[in-house]
Amino acid sequence: MAETIFLKIIRGEIPAKVVHEDDLCMAFHDIAPKAPVHVLVIPKKPIESVNDIDEDDIPILGHIWATIPKIAQQLGIAQSGYRVVVNCGADGGQEVAHLHFHLLGGRKLTWPPG
Ligand code: AMP
Repeated sequence: MAETIFLKIIRGEIPAKVVHEDDLCMAFHDIAPKAPVHVLVIPKKPIESVNDIDEDDIPILGHIWATIPKIAQQLGIAQSGYRVVVNCGADGGQEVAHLHFHLLGGRKLTWPPG
């Protein structure tokens, strides 16, 4: 898999505003937030996209989904609500080829997305 900016963040080679880190995942504020709260939750394992998720990755993904509500609680948006978005590929709007979950909240989000 190609080197990505997220791998550099995981290795601490470029700075990020980290809100959570453990053995399996990391969460940090998006550099160009689309909502008052916009955090990216990423597996430390370099999975390229949703298309590249393997059965072996289920524990990682389960852990990420169990961690997201804790981060939402930590950031004060658990009660008001939030959206979790995963872009995949060109039509999905994926720019960084390292699987990531956008956690968006802090305002009323519109639907459907563009
Ligand atoms: P996507 O378009 O789904 O691939 O989302 C990639 C996200 O990564 C975008 O929302 C970018 O603003 C964000 N991003 C890119 N570089 C950085 C960085 N160095 N630190 C934090 N977020 C970043």
